[in-house]
Amino acid sequence: MIFLDRVSKKYPRTARPALEKFSLQVAPGEFVIIMGRSGAGKSTILKLLTREEKPTNGKIVVGGIDYDDLHDRDVPLLRRRIGVVFQDYKLLPHRTVYENVAFAMEISGMTNREIELNVPKILELVGLKGKEDKFPRHLSGGESQRVAIARAMVRQPKILIADEPTANLDDETSIEIVKLLIKINRYGTTVLMITHDTNIVKKLRHRVVQIAGGRLVGDTALKKAVK
Ligand code: ADP
Repeated sequence: MIFLDRVSKKYPRTARPALEKFSLQVAPGEFVIIMGRSGAGKSTILKLLTREEKPTNGKIVVGGIDYDDLHDRDVPLLRRRIGVVFQDYKLLPHRTVYENVAFAMEISGMTNREIELNVPKILELVGLKGKEDKFPRHLSGGESQRVAIARAMVRQPKILIADEPTANLDDETSIEIVKLLIKINRYGTTVLMITHDTNIVKKLRHRVVQIAGGRLVGDTALKKAVK
C-alpha cells in the first residue's frame, strides 16, 4: 500500500509549495497514472516516495514503512522495494544491454550464478531477447527504455514508478512501452506511471490521478466510488 496523507512539500527559496495537502492511496497491484502539466508536482511525488526529498508536512507510509520512522540506514532497503525508470533511460553507455542489467544485479548483491540465470529471463520479459550484445548507442528509444525497465525490475520491486517513460518516444513506441508496464503490473507489481501525455491516457482504462499546482484535482477511482 502507498499512502500519502495531506503531504506538502515546499522547496527552500521558492514562493509556492510544489505539493500542497496531497493525499493518495494506492492498493498493492494497482496501475495508476499520475497526470499533470509540467511543474504540477509529479516528480516531487516520486522524490518523496524514494526519499530523495522529505515532505514539509504530512504522512507517507509505503508497504508498512512509516517514513517518519525511517532512518538513513533504512533508505537502501526502501529503494530496493521501489524500482524507478526515467524518460532519459540513464543507461551505462559503455556497457552492453546484458551488462547494463547484470551490473544492476551485481550492485544489488546477486551471485554470478543468479545473474547468469536471471539476466536472460528478465531480457525475455521485456522483449529484448537477441539484443544482449548491443550497446545503448545502437538501440532505439523504445529498446533503451526496455533496458531501463529490465534494470529497474532486477530486484523484483513491489512498486515500479515510471517518470514520463514515453516522453522521448513516438506514439506507437509509447504504446508498446505502456503495454510492457501493464504486463509487469499483471505479474503483481504496483505501477505508478507519471505522464503529461493526454493522448496515452485517453487510450487506457486505468485509474488516473490528476494533479495541478501541487494539488489533487481529480481521481477516477474516487469518481467511481461516488457514483
Ligand atoms: P512536474 O514533475 O509535474 O513537472 P515537479 O515536481 O518537478 O513537477 O515540480 C513542481 C514545482 O516544484 C515546480 O514549480 C518546480 O519548479 C519546483 N521544484 C522542483 N524541484 C525543485 C527543487 N529541487 N528546488 C526548487 N524548486 C523545485
